[in-house]
Amino acid sequence: MNKKTIRDVDWQGKRALVRVDFNVPMNGDTITDDTRIRAALPTIRYLIEEGAKVILMSHLGRPKGERMPEYSLQPVALHLMELLKEANVKYVRDCVGDDAESAAAAMENGDVLLLENLRYHKEETKNDESFAKQLAGLGDVYVNDAFGTAHRAHASTAGVAAYLPAVAGFLMEKEIAVMGEALANPDRPFAAVIGGAKVSDKIGVIENLLDKVNQILIGGGMANTFLKAQGKQLAQSLVEEDALTTASTLLKAAEAKGCEFLLPTDLVVAESFDKNAAYETYAVDAMPEQGMALDIGPETAKRYQSVIEAAKTVVWNGPMGVFEMPSFAVGTKAIAEAMAKVDGTTIVGGGDSVAAVEEMGLGNKMSHVSTGGGASLEFLEGKDLPGVEALTDR
Ligand code: ADP
Ligand code: MG
Repeated sequence: MNKKTIRDVDWQGKRALVRVDFNVPMNGDTITDDTRIRAALPTIRYLIEEGAKVILMSHLGRPKGERMPEYSLQPVALHLMELLKEANVKYVRDCVGDDAESAAAAMENGDVLLLENLRYHKEETKNDESFAKQLAGLGDVYVNDAFGTAHRAHASTAGVAAYLPAVAGFLMEKEIAVMGEALANPDRPFAAVIGGAKVSDKIGVIENLLDKVNQILIGGGMANTFLKAQGKQLAQSLVEEDALTTASTLLKAAEAKGCEFLLPTDLVVAESFDKNAAYETYAVDAMPEQGMALDIGPETAKRYQSVIEAAKTVVWNGPMGVFEMPSFAVGTKAIAEAMAKVDGTTIVGGGDSVAAVEEMGLGNKMSHVSTGGGASLEFLEGKDLPGVEALTDR
């Protein structure tokens, strides 16, 4: 890793201005899933133990620059007090201005202060310079531990780093170290499993991975588009007609680069897009005239499983089928189970794929489950993430 981390700083008495991702799902004042808050605890505890004053900032939802009470971080602060009983945790009703400044000034070493929602100010997402400067004024060193927003150049994810030394927290460090290492220096064979609804969402990822992986395994709705580009009939299945040329180009590029490009040989075909629809498995050459492919078939799943189990590095983005409906989650489950057996590096990135893996209880069997949907996609595309770029180089 070529970026500085919280381990590179002498924290005693310093104010750590920490960007966390406390964008948790809420039902009224109740946090329905506190995974993201818990995930930030190792960084927060480390800073407390090292004698820093820990100032936390986050966004919650999309209040679009207005003080909408339903997007207040106050319930998160109350929950954080429960999780960090050993520390003195406070909350302040704004992230900049007099209140924030006096709350920060009153802190002792080892104290924690959670600032109110950054997106109560429209300047946050605009990466406004003077807003970034005001935030920076609250700290001595900036810590970014919010990988999920690292693909956005906002005041708290990028702008603030112009005014302070900037280091990665433990979560951020793990994201960029594990995924960076897999892409730069993978143990082989290296296989990528790519699925999801659309080819057009994943062109960048496929293009970038073609140069790096030994195999690409395609599933989900996007497999239909590749199959149609090969001349197969897909009946009512989701096909992106305007991505057919792109699909052909990618298939040719894979061949030219010697990257094995695997497509389904059988599909689970349903009568309609419905969780209770009748369904049957068909070979890709024998699709019925009616019906839509909603999952990879068992033969495909088995073939993909054997490629995955023989790999030393596996990156997965995008489910193999409409996993939200149990009848069409079988292919996705097969991938997750095969990856869980791999004796090597296994990485899952992408909002829906991560949700699927967690739902199946297999998240802890992977080397890394990325916390950032959009950010992990951009990382796999080989793009520079503003939130990572902004960190101080070693
Ligand atoms: P991720 O969030 O992991 O990157 P995507 O957002 O690209 O994944 O794709 C997930 C969506 O793709 C899911 O909602 C899933 O239902 C849908 N999907 C997968 N396979 C099919 C299919 N055969 N037909 C229609 N939709 C599909
Ligand atoms: Mg998604």
